[in-house]
Amino acid sequence: MTLFRDAEFRGIVMYRRDYRERDLLVQILTDKYAAKMFMVRGAKRPSFKLQTAILPFTYADYIGAINTQGLSYITSTKQTHLYAKISMDILAQAYAAYLLTLVASAFDEGKPLGQYFELIVAALDKMNDGTDAQLLANLVEIKLLNQFGVAPHLQDCVICQRHDLPMDYSEQYGGLLCQDHWPLDVHRLHAQPKTIALMQGLARIMPQQLGEVDLSVRTKKDLQRILDKIYQDQVGLQLKSKKYLDEITRMPQLTPKKVDKSPKNG
Ligand SMILES: [Zn+2]
Repeated sequence: MTLFRDAEFRGIVMYRRDYRERDLLVQILTDKYAAKMFMVRGAKRPSFKLQTAILPFTYADYIGAINTQGLSYITSTKQTHLYAKISMDILAQAYAAYLLTLVASAFDEGKPLGQYFELIVAALDKMNDGTDAQLLANLVEIKLLNQFGVAPHLQDCVICQRHDLPMDYSEQYGGLLCQDHWPLDVHRLHAQPKTIALMQGLARIMPQQLGEVDLSVRTKKDLQRILDKIYQDQVGLQLKSKKYLDEITRMPQLTPKKVDKSPKNG
């Protein structure tokens, strides 16, 4: 068990739970060590000085002791930033929690996230500013496929490299097939052409570049269906946070603006 004392790292609080009478366990997605579990002593005392650094959906610069196995410890923080809008919106919370666990599951504990840490921070920044949470999640999902070893071919037809014909996604070929090559895969995903264009667009940009988008509910649902299928079949993930998100998004009356209270335990 290696101990990194006085390690400086950045992180986003994923969740926390009780641990003994006065202590908390806090899981943080860090830039240098992926998701780590921290034991925070005395965290439940009202006067606890690091209180703002361990709230869910908080981004902070931390200093602490990192153990490669077992629990790690936070000794101080330099600056903290709470994603206030996300933490007050049940739908945004569900998307953010899902994205954090998705990124965490793409990396072994102890491994640096590299550019993917910047990606999740940028996605949460934009989500906190009110940008479409589903599209931000889809953007991260598409980019993370590389990390999961799927690396879909999205720029043109896998077979002939044409890009001027209607396209569809083929799991068997690991990417797009043009209309001429649809007969090669009877199980192609039958995506709408607009869905494929959206998927290609999201693959090319970073969250900062995602502006106001005018998309039909149908196209957004279709994109989610395609990505869910790829994640289910080719990545094989079963995340509780995704199941919860799916339940929340299925509630027809639920929109971000109508919800003003968050549950105690997001
Ligand atoms: Zn083709």
